[in-house]
Amino acid sequence: MTKKKIAILGAGPSGLAQLRAFEAARLAGVENLPEIVCYEKQNAIGGMWNYTWRTGLDRNGEPVHGSMYRYLWSNGPKECLEFADYSFEEHFGQSIPSYPPREVLKDYIMGRIDKQDIRKYIRFECPVRWVTFDDNTKKFTVTVMNHKTKEQETEEFDYVIVATGHFSTPNMPYFEGLEEFPGRIMHAHDFRDALEFKDKDILLVGSSYSAEDIGTQCYKYGTKSVTISYRSTALGYAWPKGITEKPLVTHFEGDIAYFSDGTSQCFDAIIMCTGYLFHFPFLPDELRLQTHNCLYPANLYKGIFWQPNPQLVYLGMQDQYFTFNMFDAQAWYVRDVILDKFALPELAAREADEQKWLTEYAAVDSVSGHIDFQAKYIRDLTNATDYPEFAVEKQGDILKQWQKDKIADIMGFREKAYTSTLTNTLAPELPEPWLEILDDSLEHFLNLAFIKGQKSDNKSWTKK
Ligand code: FAD
Ligand code: NAP
Ligand code: MG
Repeated sequence: MTKKKIAILGAGPSGLAQLRAFEAARLAGVENLPEIVCYEKQNAIGGMWNYTWRTGLDRNGEPVHGSMYRYLWSNGPKECLEFADYSFEEHFGQSIPSYPPREVLKDYIMGRIDKQDIRKYIRFECPVRWVTFDDNTKKFTVTVMNHKTKEQETEEFDYVIVATGHFSTPNMPYFEGLEEFPGRIMHAHDFRDALEFKDKDILLVGSSYSAEDIGTQCYKYGTKSVTISYRSTALGYAWPKGITEKPLVTHFEGDIAYFSDGTSQCFDAIIMCTGYLFHFPFLPDELRLQTHNCLYPANLYKGIFWQPNPQLVYLGMQDQYFTFNMFDAQAWYVRDVILDKFALPELAAREADEQKWLTEYAAVDSVSGHIDFQAKYIRDLTNATDYPEFAVEKQGDILKQWQKDKIADIMGFREKAYTSTLTNTLAPELPEPWLEILDDSLEHFLNLAFIKGQKSDNKSWTKK
């Protein structure tokens, strides 16, 4: 029997989850594993978590993938994204506060990878250029640009797993008068260092996570004033003096923004926190997922398999309350289908299943309902595989508490601590107010975090 061949596009958390899922099977003695090639555009693993100072194009002339910024901290509790097979405590040697900064979370993600020999599957600096499917041979042809050899490469595969993320290509709106605005106009994708806006009056357009987080971060690092302009609904938090919300901007005249409530104000800079486009320039129409940021994109069976051709798989395409554990749940499911542990139903049954989920999703009208919906979706996936049991519903309860904590104190919610559903350990509290911790490096955070407890002997977290 010839080995199946699979291509994983992207080595961010989703692509790495897929590699890890196959590695877990290999370690468990499963035979007839497929041949795997993972193509990654960047020169490192980690996807979004691979912070870069670059904006625009990378050194190969490819669009920079990263949207993360320097002083980013997790905006959700770490207890709700913990890998079921690798706890934070195992990685850091002791419990750490519930909201870690970016470098700390990245160290955790890398920790699980470093214990596995999976880098060998990854071809770095190889952006995927084009994918086709041949109806006769039932194989995909994947063409990539190998920037290391400076040559294009083409290979055939039985499965293609798209794990290229969907928070990288800016959705950039236009407002009349922008062309004459004298200050900086940028999208959240290009935001890097809040200190750029110290002592400035800035306008953020959009009212979701990016607006809320970039706004609070700029406030933390000394921006003079932050105005958040919303299209549908205001974020509505109890903001400190210096952050205000306004309805949508209608137009600009010079450096003055006019809002739909008739007010106006001068600004030094504009940051569009208006979300991202699903962008797969390497896929032809018949294979390309066309959707927006939501919990159940249409045309995917189990939120993963391309309905018209389930040899094409999409990972992590949902909006995300749960992240790393959801990518794992998806990757384990995909692995078991590829390993023929179970077969997918016929198209009609797959579509009926999708319709059932879409109908249920359409009926949900609250944040807590959305959290329950995504937890149920994940439970449905893990029920089918041997991904280690984790209390996804309990984690959903933590997410609901997180919502309440944000309403109670948007500038201080990161000081709250939760209990890990894996280890049952209550996280230590952040020892200082989040607003006062300006150094968010791994060393500083762990020193702070470990002040109260006994210092750990586990040095797996020390910077590699
Ligand atoms: P990504 O991490 O985006 O990785 C996709 C990979 O595909 C990248 O390595 C990219 O280089 C590669 N790629 C893209 N195109 C190609 C191509 N053509 N060829 C080859 N490779 C390609 N989640 C949390 O859990 N906690 C947080 O605090 C959090 N903060 C976030 C903050 C910001 C600003 C953003 C934008 C997202 C945040 N997220 C957070 C969500 C984040 O998207 C996920 O944590 C996670 O990174 C998604 O993993 P992914 O692998 O699906 O996508
Ligand atoms: P998002 O959640 O998709 O929200 C997009 C926002 O843009 C919505 O408020 C939308 O308004 C608005 N918008 C879109 N087009 C607009 C237009 N033409 N005019 C005005 N407003 C417009 O995107 P996001 O906030 O960038 O978040 C993306 C992801 O990044 C999330 O998963 C989030 O968790 C993550 N993130 C995490 C952190 C962190 O961990 N610290 C920080 C930032 C982002 P409507 O409601 O009207 O559609
Ligand atoms: Mg199970």
